[in-house]
Amino acid sequence: MDFYQRLIPKQSCVLCGELARLCVCPECEFKFTNHLLRCRSCAHPIVGNLDFCGQCLAHAPKFNRAYTLYDYQGEIARLIKAFKYNNQLCIGAYFARQLHILYRSILKTGVNYDAIIPMPLSRQRLIERGYNQVLELLRVIAKHERVVIDAQHCQRIKATQPLSSLKLDQRKQEIMGAFVASAMPYKNILLVDDVMTTGTSFGELAKTILRNTGIKRCDVMVLARAEAL
Ligand SMILES: [Zn+2]
Ligand SMILES: [Zn+2]
Repeated sequence: MDFYQRLIPKQSCVLCGELARLCVCPECEFKFTNHLLRCRSCAHPIVGNLDFCGQCLAHAPKFNRAYTLYDYQGEIARLIKAFKYNNQLCIGAYFARQLHILYRSILKTGVNYDAIIPMPLSRQRLIERGYNQVLELLRVIAKHERVVIDAQHCQRIKATQPLSSLKLDQRKQEIMGAFVASAMPYKNILLVDDVMTTGTSFGELAKTILRNTGIKRCDVMVLARAEAL
């Protein structure tokens, strides 16, 4: 393929239908947002020059830091839903490239990870979907980085109802005991999911991992951070 052929759009933008080189056109991509100021701990948007949100100051989560590519709203919410429920692989490939860029920028801050663990799905969800789609999001990182992608040592043993509709106490009750983790030969790990809303699932997963394995530090990376109600 010569240089000029490569510039000719080959597909339509998933969001607006215009011809695009990727599955998202630059105009739609421009509408994606990401808050500049976020809680260092849970990535919730904050105002002013604070480091942590009120909730983390009151109850620090078990994970150490959280990173996100986008705010979960508008066009990005549509794109993530299309990826999750319509199984559109080109969107998965697009997100996987973007997550790789975010991952590289996290490494540049000096932290290093021995393994990346995708948020485990319950057996029931795994059967419905056929596979864990978070693995799709990690493809580019798996190809270009040395880090282990470990989907073996953590399992979800309880299917929970959607946590975002519950109050904090109810969420913690619902998620308690949802995961099991066996010993892993890592020190620092990064937990990954598509969307983080309340952070309760990540908190419980990190708690289970820190308690039952030799791991010392869990961080979190997501495509999009929703603002909990
Ligand atoms: Zn578009
Ligand atoms: Zn926070």
